[in-house]
Amino acid sequence: MREAALVVQIDRGFPLVETADGRRFRCKHAVSLVKGADVRAQVGDRVMVDVADDADIAQIAAIEPRTRELVRRDPAERTVAQVLAVNFDTVIVAHPLHELNERRLERELVLAQSTGAQVVVALTKADLAESSRQVESVLAHVRAMAAPGVEVVAVSEHDPASVERLRAFIPAGTTAVLIGRSGVGKSSLVNLLAGRDVQETNAVRETDGKGRHTTVNRSMVALPQGGYVVDMPGVRGLGLWDSREGIDAAFPDVAGHAADCRFRDCTHGGEPGCAVQAAVTAGELSSERVASYVRLVAENAEQMEKNEVAARMRGRGKPRPRRRRR
Ligand code: GDP
Ligand code: ZN
Repeated sequence: MREAALVVQIDRGFPLVETADGRRFRCKHAVSLVKGADVRAQVGDRVMVDVADDADIAQIAAIEPRTRELVRRDPAERTVAQVLAVNFDTVIVAHPLHELNERRLERELVLAQSTGAQVVVALTKADLAESSRQVESVLAHVRAMAAPGVEVVAVSEHDPASVERLRAFIPAGTTAVLIGRSGVGKSSLVNLLAGRDVQETNAVRETDGKGRHTTVNRSMVALPQGGYVVDMPGVRGLGLWDSREGIDAAFPDVAGHAADCRFRDCTHGGEPGCAVQAAVTAGELSSERVASYVRLVAENAEQMEKNEVAARMRGRGKPRPRRRRR
């Protein structure tokens, strides 16, 4: 029988799907679906599955078009994208309040903004701040560096009201993806949001059928209010992948001035008529922000170039576009 289901977990490379009536099946992909195309169901995918009465494994026959993807460069391969989650509404960037690493946060914001989703920054472990003044000043600082529309909240596992403020960004019927360095308190937040200890197993590195490494146990955790949070353990590196629009979205201050540079391909490195350098001189932009922007743009361009070379070598022409903007 063919029925609709939601991919709620990737379990050692196999999608685990849940049907509308709550039955769960481990799946493999139908040969017709993956033949000649590099498609794999991901956490959040809406799929059609064929369930045979006597089989312990179901078959994914079709994947519905995605509204949104969170993509990074596959850490194991230089020119392969890795889709971490799909069809979510919100990306929550978890970052420790008392150990703010601006360069890292900028990168996290670029990845988050590249998806076109609502972005929320959760400054975690707020109880470890020196004082409430420090909390206020870090909040103000991150609000200033984040794009307009990005929500910034301080949270602590010891402050239930702060968890409720975060919950407000995941209303019923929506899905939030939680990203952030290991140890920043993501699991603690997932457990508090879920109201129960969600089974935590260590992320295992596994090889899928194509010999590629994938991190297992990314899963959708149902929340009492009706939404989902996608827990993403074991996601370390955040290599940019086709993130040009995400960079501009995460750096609207720099991008705004860059639009006024004389040369369209200005690198803001001392060319005549550079509006970005003029804004730095005028004290309107910090030189560190500009340096980060320039560095990320260069990294992204280099990655895109490698991707094109690799795609040509594979004889497929340009890499297929994979993102739909909001
Ligand atoms: P993850 O790796 O991002 O999932 O981080 P965890 O949720 O496992 O948390 C890492 C460590 O930080 C654990 O020892 C937690 O008890 C601790 N931790 C998490 N949230 C908070 C918090 O709000 N305040 C304090 N003081 N410690 C926290
Ligand atoms: Zn310029």
